[in-house]
Amino acid sequence: MLGTVLHAPGDVRCEHVPEPEILQPTDAIIRLAASCICGSDLWPYRGLNDITAPMHMGHEYCGVVVEVGAAVTTVRPGQFVVGSFCLSDNTCPHCRHGFQSSCDQREFMSGAQAVFARVPLADGTLVATRDMPADDLIPGLLAASDVLGTGWYAADAARVQPGSSVVVVGDGAVGLMGVLAAKQMGAARIIAMSRHKTRQDLALHYGATDIVAERGEAGIARVRELTARIGADAVLECVGTQDSMTQALRVARPGAMIGYVGVPHGVEFDGQQLFFSQVGMLGGPAPVRRFLPHLMDLVLSRRIDPGLVFDLELPLTDVAEGYRAMDERRAIKTLLRV
Ligand SMILES: [Zn+2]
Repeated sequence: MLGTVLHAPGDVRCEHVPEPEILQPTDAIIRLAASCICGSDLWPYRGLNDITAPMHMGHEYCGVVVEVGAAVTTVRPGQFVVGSFCLSDNTCPHCRHGFQSSCDQREFMSGAQAVFARVPLADGTLVATRDMPADDLIPGLLAASDVLGTGWYAADAARVQPGSSVVVVGDGAVGLMGVLAAKQMGAARIIAMSRHKTRQDLALHYGATDIVAERGEAGIARVRELTARIGADAVLECVGTQDSMTQALRVARPGAMIGYVGVPHGVEFDGQQLFFSQVGMLGGPAPVRRFLPHLMDLVLSRRIDPGLVFDLELPLTDVAEGYRAMDERRAIKTLLRV
């Protein structure tokens, strides 16, 4: 079958790879309905994570089950399923607390930029739809697998409430999904920090009430003007750099929560600054499995359209162009037709 392999920084190829097989009785094999490229795939692509062996790329997925292991009971061949990028048993204590991304048996999905994929811990990871979804809903369901679930977690972790003032730091796909989530949770004011016209437009479409294009001190000052000079009730940090984290901390009012979902690269905290800022922080890899049934329901009933975040669609064979387009910020997020 065709699959995506990263050989070295900048060298990603669609090539023939072995078809996945059931290795554990808890596995399922799915045929992907579509796949996509994640912002986090760009870290190894850019050489910022070590590549010690060829990497089979792709952790966002939805599709039809073709085979299940002997121990799988909740999904069966022929069903359409969506799963989280974090594989979980959904039964251990962390899972029962809703933190499936810290599951005792946690693994990370890989190899999903391909025609078929193996999903370990199928019972605890996959959620099936009742019927076969319409084709135009596939991008939205695929988004639920990671980018929507992560934006949703950022808003949930930041404790967005009806009437909240919210700042979203980061205008990538996750930040835009954070705007969508904050709107769904009833935020009254959603300030999106973005300098790019197409991303600003999508943020406004998803419910942003204000756009702040300024960064640094000017950006902080602008947000404070918009929030009665006290800062926001909830801040979603969706980048993971020192600048974005500083921005998030400086626009949060005392008592606010910051939901941070950008994987930190080189971020450091000053203990005293954190102490006197009096903000709470919760972040990490999103427990997408907790939100998945609700998010799938919102997509299937057409109450949200997270699929708009895919602004480039390519066949799997053109995966290298998909990576280039995202690396050069010509695309927000690439959908791969398999
Ligand atoms: Zn677990």
